[in-house]
Amino acid sequence: MAEKFVFEPTKFDQIKDHYDVVIIGSGGAGLTSAIQAYELGLSPVILEKMDKLGGNTTRASSGMNAAETFVQLDHHIVDSFEDFYNETFIGGGKMNNPELLKFFTEHGALAIDWLDQHGIKLDDLTITGGMKTERTHRPSSLAPIGGYLVTELLKYIAKDQIPLFDNIKVTELLTDNGKITGIKATADKDITIKTDAVVLATGGFGAGKDLLAEYRSDLLNLRTTNQPGATGDGLKLAQKVGAKLVDMDQVQVHPTVQQDTPHAFLIGEAVRGEGAILINNDGQRFVNELDTRKNVTAAIDNLGGTGAYLIFDRDIRDRVKAIEFYDHIGLVTTGQTVAELAEEIHVEKQALQQTVKDWNVAVDNQDDKWFARTTGMERDISDGPFYAIHVAPAVHYTMGGVAINHKTQVLNEKNQVINGLFAAGEVAGGLHGNNRIGGNSIAETVVFGRQAGQQAYKYLKG
Ligand code: ADP
Repeated sequence: MAEKFVFEPTKFDQIKDHYDVVIIGSGGAGLTSAIQAYELGLSPVILEKMDKLGGNTTRASSGMNAAETFVQLDHHIVDSFEDFYNETFIGGGKMNNPELLKFFTEHGALAIDWLDQHGIKLDDLTITGGMKTERTHRPSSLAPIGGYLVTELLKYIAKDQIPLFDNIKVTELLTDNGKITGIKATADKDITIKTDAVVLATGGFGAGKDLLAEYRSDLLNLRTTNQPGATGDGLKLAQKVGAKLVDMDQVQVHPTVQQDTPHAFLIGEAVRGEGAILINNDGQRFVNELDTRKNVTAAIDNLGGTGAYLIFDRDIRDRVKAIEFYDHIGLVTTGQTVAELAEEIHVEKQALQQTVKDWNVAVDNQDDKWFARTTGMERDISDGPFYAIHVAPAVHYTMGGVAINHKTQVLNEKNQVINGLFAAGEVAGGLHGNNRIGGNSIAETVVFGRQAGQQAYKYLKG
């Protein structure tokens, strides 16, 4: 068996007072932009404030969306940039920034190839809510994508000896005449680093109570799926040097989060994508389970605070490796039969049996006459044991953030570029409109992370 890879952050005493580019944050966007910048010949540094690397990216479970990929063709799926654009645009309430969305949908395939060149193979496909085609790429081990991606990218960071420091929090961006000149940070002691280019890859504010209070106080009582460091620092840093913030009130509440344990666990959309249904306390379906996150959340909210149950069978479980983990930590209820499962979750036996029977007929006929579901209908729910996970909505993703153009250059209130400042990933706003589609956040980190690395190079050497 291959030896387990353990990444060693760089020792604090090795920090220098100048780098070509300072990358703030060690999630998907930060790691990708660092590798891209390094491969173009720059000397980047990554600064991460937490002692755990990888940010919210490590928690991503479904996959990475892209259209017109070789992987899709291998699966006999003929997709188009146009469909990817249109489905994302409709899913985002037509509020998506068209410039960003166009670049995003037309560069996903390249990003998949780039990952492939780096030994990161996403050669299996699934589907997420709001999409009409299988374009969510994931590892063929069916492992959750986030942990896999971060580990594999960290292997490159280690191989290339790109310095990555943990426990260093960036507290200020320094500018002179409207240009980035450096950063200030706190670690064991306060430090200043000179640089002409900064990439903000600091993630969102899904765990930032102050920003949530300011923009969405109605969500303050909900749990969050985010890591504690997702406090929107990048937005505040950018705003202080004149950056414009966009769509700040657009916060995604994820519909299927298990929250009966002290730690809230997101149950990835792939569970529904592979065939699970949602039922209410009466054992009945109540929504097209693969409608957009916004609509499924609203449907669960309408149940009046009881939450809902995801119901699936052995076959579906085998298609989503993350379920092994969910079960291991006690989130999954099991029944050898549907009736036994109903008893375990205190739902009327006949009602659940009827719901599953009806659903299996819908799958057979590929016709859901109740909720018009059309995707995630490749397998029915008939192979015991049967499983349930109790879920309810929780704060998940902040669509708003720093205004950027498709070159990841940060814009000020007048839509002018702030020289030397780039932003990629969840910290940037506008791509997702009023609802992010599952699989688009990982894609965003790689597509725009690469772009930030390239544009920083062009800025410095151009
Ligand atoms: P993305 O998916 O956009 O890459 P992630 O949430 O995965 O975003 O990663 C963002 C990372 O940035 C997190 O690990 C977070 O702890 C880190 N971070 C946030 N603010 C700061 C800061 N002020 N200084 C250093 N790191 C930060």
